[in-house]
Amino acid sequence: MVKPLFTFGLLLSLLLGWAFVSWANPTILIFPQKVHSGDAFIVIVKGLGGFPDARLEEVFVGKKEGKKEISLKGRGTKKSLLIGVPLDARELILRVKGGNGAQIAGVRIRLLPRRVPVSRLRLPSRYLKPPERLLKRIDRERRMLRSILFRSSAFWYPKGSPVMPLKRYRKTTPFGAKRVINGVSVSPHSGVDMAAPSGTPVRAVFKGRVAFAGNLYYTGNTVVLDHGRGFYTLYAHLSSFSVRKGEVVGKGSCLGKVGSTGRATGPHLHFGIYVGGVKVDPLSIFKIPHSLWDVARW
Ligand SMILES: [Zn+2]
Repeated sequence: MVKPLFTFGLLLSLLLGWAFVSWANPTILIFPQKVHSGDAFIVIVKGLGGFPDARLEEVFVGKKEGKKEISLKGRGTKKSLLIGVPLDARELILRVKGGNGAQIAGVRIRLLPRRVPVSRLRLPSRYLKPPERLLKRIDRERRMLRSILFRSSAFWYPKGSPVMPLKRYRKTTPFGAKRVINGVSVSPHSGVDMAAPSGTPVRAVFKGRVAFAGNLYYTGNTVVLDHGRGFYTLYAHLSSFSVRKGEVVGKGSCLGKVGSTGRATGPHLHFGIYVGGVKVDPLSIFKIPHSLWDVARW
C-alpha cells in the first residue's frame, strides 16, 4: 500500500516541480529552428512573469564580434522579437537577463553556413570608380540611408504572411553573393536581385510607412518602407515610384515599377531587408511561420 502511494507522491511532486520550474524560468524559442548566417528569425521568450525588467542580450560570434542589448520591458509573460543575423556571424548567443543583470535563460545557436556564389559582372567604370565630383553625393546618400535603417520606430505593422514584391521573377544574384565587378572584388551583395520585365509592378511586402522615396546614385529610384521596430524593406532600380515619404501603404500595394536605374545591368528589382541595421537575406523572412508576425514585437 505504502509503496505505490509513495511512487505516486514522488511522481506528482516531480510533475508539479517540473511544471513550476517551467513556469518560473524563462524559456527561449526560435523560429524557424534552422538559422543561417545572414538570416532573419523570430525569437520568443516565455515565462517572463516574474521579471518585469528583463533584457535580451544578442552576441554574434564571427570574424567581427557584435553585442546588442534590448529591453524586454512591458506587460505580459511572453515577448517576441525579429532578429537579424549578420552575414559574417558563425554563432549566436541569446541571454535573458533579470533586472539585476543576472542571466535567467540562455541559448547558443550554431548558425548554418550560407553557400554564396561568386557573380562576375561588367559595368560602366563610373560605378566602380565614381568620378571625383560625385563622391560627396555618394557619401551623403550612404550616411542618409544608414541613419534611416538604424532607427527603430515604436509601431509594428507586419501581420499575417509577407507578400513577395514581384508576382513572377527570376532570381539572378542571391543575398551575400561575392561580387567581382570588372575584375575587382566589391562588398557582398546586400539583397536579392529579381529579374522581371521593365514596368512590372513592385508590391509592399507588409504594411509600412515610406521612410524614403527618391533617386540614389547606386540604387537608382529607391523606396524604403519602415515596418516598425527597426524592420525595413528596400526596393531599388525602379523605373518610377508612386509613393511619397511619410505615406503609410498597405501590404501588397504598388510602390513603383521594375526598371534599371542606378548601378544595374538590366531591368530587375534589388530587394533588401534590414533588421536593427543588419542586412539580411530577404527570402529568409518567408520561412518564418505566418502566425508569429502579429506578435513579433515587445
Ligand atoms: Zn542587387
